[in-house]
Amino acid sequence: MARCDVCFRHCELRDGQTGPCGARAAEGGEVRPVYYGKVSALALDPIEKKPLAMFHPGSRILSVGMLGCNLHCPFCQNHEIAQRGGGEFPADTRDLSPAMLAEMAEGCRDLGNIGVAYTYNEPLVCWEYVHDTAKLVHEKGMLNVMVTNGCAELGILEKLLPYIDAMNIDLKGFTDRYYSEILGGDRKMVMDFIREAAKHCHVELTTLVVPGENDSEEEMRELSQWIAGLPEVSGGRQGREIPLHISRFFPRYHMAGKKPTDVKKIYSLVDIARENLLYVYPGNC
Ligand code: SF4
Ligand code: SF4
Repeated sequence: MARCDVCFRHCELRDGQTGPCGARAAEGGEVRPVYYGKVSALALDPIEKKPLAMFHPGSRILSVGMLGCNLHCPFCQNHEIAQRGGGEFPADTRDLSPAMLAEMAEGCRDLGNIGVAYTYNEPLVCWEYVHDTAKLVHEKGMLNVMVTNGCAELGILEKLLPYIDAMNIDLKGFTDRYYSEILGGDRKMVMDFIREAAKHCHVELTTLVVPGENDSEEEMRELSQWIAGLPEVSGGRQGREIPLHISRFFPRYHMAGKKPTDVKKIYSLVDIARENLLYVYPGNC
């Protein structure tokens, strides 16, 4: 049996067995990423789409996705790639080595590209590819952005921090019940990840508000108070300067039958978060 140390599940896998993230499998007594260099999505996106509001606004970033995710959000808008994997190699992925991706990023400089964003699925389930690519992207004088659920051990974060310039991390709610029962995640692990990442690079956070699940005023008050209280933030900033994106839910995947979040609800939660934070942005409104 081999043990994976990426996330709170700490899966013990037999040779040939894949973890529930669908993206890491045991081979020769070690757990390795299944989709290293297998790219499922590639686009030159506006940086605001990550979303990052206060990191090189107006620029574009070459955004890359692979397959798999260690959470199982029932509303996942990228479920076609994030909830897929399991060791299979779908025909619609393409091989792109770290060197090829870094060169491609450099080739898009004239189009306003500032670097590479690891996004769409959960990049941490293939953190080795992020690490190797990000290093090469830095060597070309360009930047790296990671868009993540933040559900990973601090040891993995430490390996990536020297190469990651900005992150958007999901703080999907502020109750253990929501994280464990609805998303299949671990809130404490995400909070520890955010606390550590914010010390070292530009961090923005995103909360997707799902009606009846994480939309109470009390929860948003507690969530924003916790962010504001973060003691150490990169660039000499304070916790209350961390940008928070409060986004509207749209019916998707296993929650296709639910109604979208009321726009008024988003704006009222934005007002509550602004009691504690300086930069709060409504999303998808
Ligand atoms: S990343 Fe995947 S294999 Fe590793 S512990 Fe998490 S779910 Fe298990
Ligand atoms: S963390 Fe993101 S990619 Fe993973 S299942 Fe949830 S919404 Fe999808």
